[in-house]
Parts: sequence; C-alpha cells; structure tokens
Amino acid sequence: MNPVLNPLNVHMYLTPLCNLACSHCYYDAKRIGDDPGRMLSVDDVVDTISWLCKKFEADLHLEGGEIFLRPDLDQIFAKLAPEYLSLLTVTTSGIVPMQVSKERLRALGDLRISVEGHTDELQQMLRPANLDRVFRTTEMLRTNAIPFSLRVTLHRANVRKIQEMITSFVARGVERISFFEYQPVGRGLAQINQHTLSDADFEFVLDTLIQEPLNPLLRVLKLSLSQRRVAMALERQSMLEDQGFKFIELTAIPNLTINSNGDLGISPWLATATKLHDCFANIFETDFRTEIERRFISDESRVPCPYTSEFLLRYKV
Ligand code: SF4
Repeated sequence: MNPVLNPLNVHMYLTPLCNLACSHCYYDAKRIGDDPGRMLSVDDVVDTISWLCKKFEADLHLEGGEIFLRPDLDQIFAKLAPEYLSLLTVTTSGIVPMQVSKERLRALGDLRISVEGHTDELQQMLRPANLDRVFRTTEMLRTNAIPFSLRVTLHRANVRKIQEMITSFVARGVERISFFEYQPVGRGLAQINQHTLSDADFEFVLDTLIQEPLNPLLRVLKLSLSQRRVAMALERQSMLEDQGFKFIELTAIPNLTINSNGDLGISPWLATATKLHDCFANIFETDFRTEIERRFISDESRVPCPYTSEFLLRYKV
C-alpha cells in the first residue's frame, strides 16, 4: 500500500530572465542579456522535483521569469516520470514560442497563461504585450488539444469589468480562468496606489459571482483569497456555495519556494529574481532534503504571509 503523503505547495523559478518588462512584476525579473547568475541545471531540477514528488503530495508550480526562455525545458520534462508531469503547473505570458513536445505539454497538470485584462488597453497597463499574440498561442493550444487556463490579475482598472472579461475570454475558447488579486510585491510595490483593489472592489467581485449566472461554457473558475479577503468571502459563503463554488482552505498546507539559483524560502510572494526575502538555505550548500524534512516536521514552512492565498474559491463543472 502506498504511504499517505503530506501536502506541500512548491514554487520553483527556473529562470530569472524575462523577455517582457511588466511594470508590476512580482518577481522583479531580470531582462534578457542580464547575467542570470548560477542556475539549476536540468539534473538539479529533475532530481529536486522527483524527490519532492516522492516525499510529499506536491502541488508544483514552475515559473520564471519566462519559463519558455529555458532552451532545455523539453529535456527537463522528458526526464521527469510521466506521473510527475501531471503534478506540474507551468506559467507563461504566452508570448514566447513553446519549444516543448506537444505530448509533454498535454501531460502537464496545468499550463497557465497570464493576462491582465481582455483588452489591449487593460493588459498594457501592466504588461507590455499585445493580446493578439497571446490568443494566437491559446488557439495553437486548442488546435492541439493541449489544456490551458488563463491566470488573470484583478487590478483597479479591470475589476469592475469581471463579467465582461469572463464573457470575452469564453468567446475565445477559454474554459478555465483563475483570478488573483493584484499584490504590492516586487515591482508591484511601487504602484500600490494605482492598482490595488479597495474592499469595495473585492466585494463587487464576490457579489458579481453570486448574482450573475456563470457562462455555461466555463468549466473552471478560481478566485484566490489572501488573508484580508477571507472574512468577506466567508460572510457570503452560503450564497457562493449555492452558485456552485467550493471553499478550499489552504492555510494548513506548507509552502516551499525554490529560486533559480537554488535558494530555498517559504512564500512565493517574497521571491524576486535576485533575492528570496525569507531564504533559509541554498540547494548547493545544504543537504536540502534533510533541511526540508526537518522544517516540515517542525512546522516552519507554515509562516503566514499577507499575500499568500489562504482560501481558494473554486467553481468546477
Ligand atoms: S510579470 Fe511575468 S511576464 Fe511580466 S516581467 Fe515579470 S516574469 Fe516577465
């Protein structure tokens, strides 16, 4: 009989580099041409992921920077056991060509494309990229039967258009959407006054989900709730549940963050390309397996962070 494994949320940043320069970049990514510094090799990544998947019920998020800038990404996926590929969520801006076998893309747990709105005007307030390019990518994925979801930041300019956004995305063949509230971390901190949602904005989102029927073509809608939004969602719990939403508590699940240079930390929201603000060790300098197990047993991976999601509201057909 297989042992029961403890859950662990893992965020791995596979490159500090990005081709875009989003004004709010939480990770404060370096530009192409900058020195990436020491990076985890293919074998480092494969060994680390494989060990985490063996030891934990790991929910693994791979990102960057722009993860598809790594020319060896397909080698990493090819070396991972197929059952581990299904535990990976890979996030991209959808702008860089995906030089990865379609079969392996199909085997991922989720392939997330980040956008900041359903019009170029909204998108480009934060992210300097045309949506046309992004939707060419989603069309390619649909044509090749590769499942994907959109990861949408709710910011002050798009939040009151949430219903219009959902309708517009669904009309483009999107079936899965995850909404995350704008967080003032990384480069986002400098624009806290322009983009951060007010309490009334967030209540508007919850009330829209309660009052407006969801598009029947939408298969999954997720809304992540950070600490300060939990109470207002729980006040509406029964009405949200009547609409088909489930409340999934995440506070009990510990976090582990691994930066592209092998630094180990806890909260993914405290990670930038140059520094993990809660770094406790480095993969190359520590017996990281022993250290992670020790921290897990002593409950040191559950340190609260105001930006980390405490609950997930999930609607799933
Ligand atoms: S937000 Fe993402 S796409 Fe934008 S600069 Fe940062 S890593 Fe790159």
